[in-house]
Amino acid sequence: MRKPIIAANWKMNIGPREAEDFINSFIGQPGKLDSITSQVDVVIAPPFVSIPAAVAALNSSSAVSIAAQNMSDQDSGAYTGEVSSMMLKELYVRYVILGHSERRTLYGETDAIINAKIKKACASNLKPIFCIGETLEEREGGKLESVLRTQITDGLVGVEEKDLKEIVIAYEPVWAIGTGVVASVDQAQEAHAFVRSVVADLYNQEAADKIRIQYGGSMKASNAAELLAQPDIDGGLVGGASLESQSFLDLIKAAVSAG
Ligand code: PEP
Repeated sequence: MRKPIIAANWKMNIGPREAEDFINSFIGQPGKLDSITSQVDVVIAPPFVSIPAAVAALNSSSAVSIAAQNMSDQDSGAYTGEVSSMMLKELYVRYVILGHSERRTLYGETDAIINAKIKKACASNLKPIFCIGETLEEREGGKLESVLRTQITDGLVGVEEKDLKEIVIAYEPVWAIGTGVVASVDQAQEAHAFVRSVVADLYNQEAADKIRIQYGGSMKASNAAELLAQPDIDGGLVGGASLESQSFLDLIKAAVSAG
């Protein structure tokens, strides 16, 4: 039985002051969040500079785990603008989003770079949220499976099965991210089942059955329940609908109702 995981990706939104307000209103809903987080893991990924404010506002509450949106594959040194895994650990960060399509397309991150980051995260006891997904052109060109297989295979080179247990895969069709266009339930389930089959090919069926695979791409409260009711969809990576605490909470409640 896989526990669903819903993660907010704030991208370059919500500075430190706003992050504090968000967390206060989010966890300030008496009783509600505790009963929810026993059924769904909730993660929030603020921009780096808002992480300390979010952690402070959580005030040791375990209701929400904090993620970073990226990190370096290096430990320290002359890497201007980068942030290391150990710096994130010092801030009580538990997850790190790696390989988001915006990192791939806007900042040129390759499967090899993402692989190095995944290995560094695992070695640092950070849990990677490993993003994969095809463009519309690739899907329409019949390349969905080959694109996903390559991203998964190359992203997981040298990752041992014991570390795979800490990884969450986020299947995010690029054409659905931030566009308001959601993959149909059948398209999403089919892709998730395929992703799981690739993990089984690379490792084994038991490892594939255990790994959590989130859907990402215009997920919101109104479509979360039907997506999460699918057998291979174990949560969501949420951009737009996570930027306001009530809409994120509504989405999480919808996820709980699907379970
Ligand atoms: C994302 O940023 O990973 C994402 C899925 O964004 P949105 O929910 O806005 O499509």
